[in-house]
Amino acid sequence: MVEKKDVLKRYSLPAEVKFCKKCTISNQRPRITFNADSICSACQFAEYKKQHFDWKERENELLKLLKRFKRKDGGYEVLVPSSGGKDSARIAHELKHKYGMNVLTVTWAPHLYTDIGFKNLQSMVHVGGVDNILGTPNGIIHRKLTKLSFEILGDPFQPFIYGQVNFPLQIAVKHQIPLIMYGENGEVEYGGDMKNAFKPTRDYKGDQKKHYFSGLGPEDLISLGIEEKDLVPYMTPPHKELDALGAEIHFYGYYHKWIPQENFYYCVENTGFTPNPVRNEGTYSKYASLDDKIDGYHYYLAFIKFGIGRATSDSAHEIRDEHLTREEGVELVKKFDGEFPQRYFDIFLKYCDISEKHFWEVIDSWRSPHIWEKTGGEWKLKHAVWMDEK
Ligand SMILES: [Zn+2]
Repeated sequence: MVEKKDVLKRYSLPAEVKFCKKCTISNQRPRITFNADSICSACQFAEYKKQHFDWKERENELLKLLKRFKRKDGGYEVLVPSSGGKDSARIAHELKHKYGMNVLTVTWAPHLYTDIGFKNLQSMVHVGGVDNILGTPNGIIHRKLTKLSFEILGDPFQPFIYGQVNFPLQIAVKHQIPLIMYGENGEVEYGGDMKNAFKPTRDYKGDQKKHYFSGLGPEDLISLGIEEKDLVPYMTPPHKELDALGAEIHFYGYYHKWIPQENFYYCVENTGFTPNPVRNEGTYSKYASLDDKIDGYHYYLAFIKFGIGRATSDSAHEIRDEHLTREEGVELVKKFDGEFPQRYFDIFLKYCDISEKHFWEVIDSWRSPHIWEKTGGEWKLKHAVWMDEK
């Protein structure tokens, strides 16, 4: 028997589900806020950016920043954490070939590479022309962590996120590269904690656990039976080492207008990027987040917990970028959101060493009564953006 989770309390969610009037997101996205006109913080920020941001001025800020980290000893000048996906590949390529920085890309391997994901990583290195370090953790430990996070956190992706956030910091310390350039600030671009909306950097001390680790850091796994020595690649380097390095974590999205669709075109042109030949399950797009066979379950769990599936997240962003109207977005959500990721289901069960029955018990333990109801033996959403059209 899997213990029922209190989703409302765990994520401090509002009990009444509301949808943004401008995009497709609901107020169930953790840390998102809505104003009195029922417009989400991400849409408000997108609007603010359109009106007030001077991108020429931002580029000047970037140039100043890069100048500060230029070096004469031949060492790497900027570290770009990168999957080889369209966003990070663009940043790495631009920093290297447009701004003349000595770039090191650092990749934290997916749980299980898709062919297209590995090909895109290789293309970034061979076609895009950047150096790369690929970190692949112990597969046995990683599978254990994935199973644990699926059961305890309701997100099989958490061990990947630990490494994605911390492994580049470890490499930064090892290679003495103080400047680390991430892509977008997800909290700001997709709706979340807006306190960092007007700064280019992220603090490696403060919000890391809250924003990226759902409140459970890798160090907390020791109490769940994982040995400390096995957690080394997942851990944040000691703060005193990052302090001594003078580490600064910046977001490229602060300096450059962040439009995922344009990053896609840029990478097709410059880094040999290939979109998925098939549509990603749960959404309509072919070019985002396509390198890990496990990631469909991460999105599916978000749909179960928050009623927010992959098509919601994708369409919300594209509405803000004015690539879709809200009506089009709502239709896409209706059509694709919550589609079960069937393609790699057997692989996922085998990877986590769980039965299908156990899988569904865990899934159902995350269904909150404010989101779901069972009618005629079937689970149905109580609220959806396509029901909300009044
Ligand atoms: Zn919105």
